[in-house]
Order: sequence, then C-alpha cells, then structure tokens
Amino acid sequence: MYRTHTCGQLRAANVNETVTLAGWVQKVRNLGAMTFIDLRDRYGITQIVVEEHSPADVKTVADGLGREYVLQVEGRVVERSSKNPKMPTGDIEVVASKLVVLHEAEVPPFTIEENSDGGDDLRMKYRYLDLRRPPLQRNMILRHKMAQEIRRFLSDEGFLEIETPYLVNSTPEGARDFVVPSRMSPNQFYALPQSPQTLKQLLMVAGYDKYFQIVRCFRDEDLRADRQPEFTQIDCEMSFVEQEDVLEIFERWAKHMFREVMGIELTEPLRRMPWIEAMEKYGSDKPDLRFGMEFADLTDLAQGHGFAVFDDAEYVTGFAATGCAGYTRKQIDALTEFVKRQQIGAKGLVWIRVEADGNVKSSVDKFYSPEQVRAMAERAGAKAGDLVLILCGKKFKTLTQLCALRLEVAQQLGLRDPKKFAPLWVIDFPLFEWDDETQRYYAVHHPFTSPKLEDVQYLDSDPGRVRANAYDFVCNGTEIGGGSIRIHDSKLQAKMFELLGFTAEQAQERFGFLMNAFKYGAPPHGGLAFGFDRLCSLFGGSESIRDYIAFPKNNNGRDMMLDAPGYIDQAQLDELHIQLVKPEE
Ligand code: ASP
Repeated sequence: MYRTHTCGQLRAANVNETVTLAGWVQKVRNLGAMTFIDLRDRYGITQIVVEEHSPADVKTVADGLGREYVLQVEGRVVERSSKNPKMPTGDIEVVASKLVVLHEAEVPPFTIEENSDGGDDLRMKYRYLDLRRPPLQRNMILRHKMAQEIRRFLSDEGFLEIETPYLVNSTPEGARDFVVPSRMSPNQFYALPQSPQTLKQLLMVAGYDKYFQIVRCFRDEDLRADRQPEFTQIDCEMSFVEQEDVLEIFERWAKHMFREVMGIELTEPLRRMPWIEAMEKYGSDKPDLRFGMEFADLTDLAQGHGFAVFDDAEYVTGFAATGCAGYTRKQIDALTEFVKRQQIGAKGLVWIRVEADGNVKSSVDKFYSPEQVRAMAERAGAKAGDLVLILCGKKFKTLTQLCALRLEVAQQLGLRDPKKFAPLWVIDFPLFEWDDETQRYYAVHHPFTSPKLEDVQYLDSDPGRVRANAYDFVCNGTEIGGGSIRIHDSKLQAKMFELLGFTAEQAQERFGFLMNAFKYGAPPHGGLAFGFDRLCSLFGGSESIRDYIAFPKNNNGRDMMLDAPGYIDQAQLDELHIQLVKPEE
C-alpha cells in the first residue's frame, strides 16, 4: 500500500497513529539537528520531520532529497509544538521512521508553489509542473465540480446527454473551420464542428426532446485571452418550446450553479434587457451591470449651438463618471488619449465637471451657456462631484467607443470587482447585421435562428428592422451563453437563405441534410449553448480561460508542451494524398 492517508488529511485527532504518506517534496529545510520536509499532493501539504535520533538510513535519504522528489514516508503523527493555523494540517507533523524515494526529480524550471517565479511560456511548456501548483489544482477541481452540477441539474430536468461526432462537415457558426484530410476519400476533408448546432437540431427531429452535451468545439480564429481554438460548450436543445420556456429553465439552472458552486443565492428574477437598450445605455450587447454610469442620448441638447463637431455628428452621447470631477488635466488627457487609440478610434473627448457647489465647467464652455451645459450634465445623471464624458459620431460606433471608456473608468475606480456578479439576459437581437464592406446582410446568430413572428412582415422591405428570437446570457461584461428558437417552417427557412445570399442550390448543398430531415417532421425547437471555460473563469474570478483548461494553447494556437502543430512524414502525407507546396527539409 503506497499510502494510508493523503497529505491534506491528518489532524490533531490522528496523533499517535502510524501512517504512510506519498507525495512530492515541496521544500526541505535542514536545521542541522532536524530536517523538515513539506510533502505535497493535491489534497494539501503535511510537514515531515527527521530528528537527530531518527534511524541513520532515514537521515541519509533525507539529506539526499531535492525539490519535487516523489517520496513515501512512514511515521508517527505527533502534535506540533508550534502550530501553523494557516494550514489545515498545521496542528500536526509526521516523525519519519522510513523514507522511500519513489522517483528522483530534476530541479524544476520554476518554483511549484502558490505563486510561481516562472514566466508564461516556461509554465506552458512544462504545463504538467504548473498543474501541480495549488491555484491550478483549485481551478481544475472547480471545473470538475461545475461539470458535475451541470449534469446533475440537467439530468434531473429530463435532459439526455448525447454525444455527437467530431469528424463532420462545416457547421454554420461563421468562424473558420479546422479541417482533417480523409485517407479513404482522397482529396476530401472533414471539418471539426464549430458547434454541434445542426446535429442537435437533428436530435430534435429524432424525438429526443431535451438534449445536452458538455462538448468540445473548434474555431480557427485569432486568439485572445478569452478564446482558444478548441473550447468547451454546454450545448442544449429542447423541443416544443418557446423563448420563454428556454429562459425559464436556464435561469433556474444559472441560479442552481451560483448556489451550489459559489454559495450565492440569486433571489431576484434575472433582468431581461432588449438589445437596443443594452446598446444605447451601455454601448455593448454584453453590458457590465456591476456598476451604473449609464449613457444618455445628448444629441438634441448638444446640437444647434454652433459647436460644429457636435452639429455634424449623427449621435452625441455621454455618461457621468462617478466622483471624478476632481480629475486633473493630466488624468483627463490620459482618458482622451485612451479613446483616441487606434483600437478605439474616437476623434476627441468632451468633458463637463460638476463641481461640489453644483457649478459646471466644461471643455466646450465657449459654445454653450452654463444652463445648456447643466442640461447635458443632468441628462447624463451627473451629481455634484461627477465628471461627464461625451463622445460623438456615427451612432453605434460612438456607443461602442463610449463603452470602452466606461469600462476603463470603472477599472480605474475599482468597480469591476470579480467577486460581484451581475447576470442578465439580453434579448430581442436584430436578426441581420449589415456589412458595409460586402454590401450585404449577415445572420447575427446562425441562419436557423427564427425571426420574431410580428417582425416577419419586414423581412423583404426592411430586413434590418427584424428582431430575432435570440437571447444571450451575459454576466459582468462577458457573453457566457446564447441561443435561439429555430426556424422549423421550410418556407421561412428558404426565405432566410435567400436573404443571406445563398442560391437555392448552395443552400441545398450546405444545409440540405437538415432541410430534408425537417421534411419528415420537425418539432418546434430551440436551445442555447454556454461557454464552459468562460463560466469557469467567471466563477473562479480570472480574466483568462486558459487557467481553467488543463492543457491550453498559446496565442499562436500552439501547444507549447507537445510542440503541436508539427510536421508529418512523407509516408503519412502520401497516404492522405497530400502534396506539400514546398516540402520541408
Ligand atoms: N450554436 C450556437 C453557438 O454555438 C448556440 C445555439 O444557438 O444553441 O453559439
């Protein structure tokens, strides 16, 4: 038997027991007369002592130990004379009577403790060592616990967990596909699923009624902190449901997760915000509601007073930065620089200070009377001590720019507290999005998303006005999930394909399998998917989803540990009927 207890298990009640532990040596402190060894496994750390009168062979092994040696210890549990209240095992230590080295270890490339001294790249390369550290172990444990709670809740609600294949054809989520060459069908390729969207809809045709899957999805996109080329979704679909049914069940699910995993009771119904309200008040379809600072439309107040910048703009909007009236010139200049950065692209920033005595002072005082300035400040909800920040330009572009500024100010004010949660549903998304460059409409979600019945009348005359039966679950400025009620009327579906620029042949070629299946009786259905990695990072309080994925890829899509992607040999290429344009040496 390798061990009787784990390294996190022993307490004062075990004193005098003879135990066997096994784990990794985190630290050895040799004090001459005594040697202390911190022995670690994923359950915790136990202090091992080798005393002056310990057997000679025990002392010899202890002297030869290095960091990360795998060690088995037999010994007696004793009460510590100086207890460590910070450690769960801090009341005891184990006096070693036998030490066996199960495996030696080379000096690790970074410290494997709560905080490591290793840089990102090094820790990615030796991910298995980084994963030994308690913070990452806590993340993996959290992820496991969340997966169990998801399964428990959905299974209790009658959802069936059904697996769908990874070697499929292109799936319509609008990203680039990862493809896999086929050996048996020369010159043909599988695509890895961007989501199981079409497959889960086929499961509804097949009568499974309620489906879920915690499933890997693949999207070949440029990477950011909250994106990985392969990521995990909690994918769900239900039959005979309307939007309300989906929102009801997944609101209960979300509350279940907050309660069981975080110990947070969300008693209020989740707020439901129409997309247009989210855009106009927060400049984003994923508003961060942990704090206020809502936008106000100032266009009518700002225009007609001779300030050309505002007069020429389609839209003028601003918000009151709470308590920021005391910002210095330098601080305001920094905010101006912030909005003028290329990624944001605003031309300039107008400000109004509401001073403690209620007097207003602004960067455009020469164009407006104090009353006119005050009217704008009041519309923005400013109180004494606030600083109103105003941008102008094309409506949605300006709103998006102001959103970046709102988040920046909130960050500076410490309002983006990761321990606070402000979940909501964003609903009533537009069905289509116009693209200036290609001069055509695109589906905001995927082409199976159903329009609102009352908006179907505008499909031809004014597609931009049609709202979708689509919804997103948003928390703290991040989209955690989203989905829609699907079209199950084949005429409407054909119309959608047409509006999205597919010819009947193209639509048949890409989606024929689904449309043909529908002909055999498709129930009304809808569903949604949550980003599991994002949900883990939200609960865990981290910005990066990488910290919640055991073996993630870096920003270039590389697995630094496996050194993938890599070259393959000629024989393998031949078998796959692939000729490299420029064969590698
Ligand atoms: N397939 C969608 C997605 O991956 C989710 C859904 O519509 O159910 O975003």
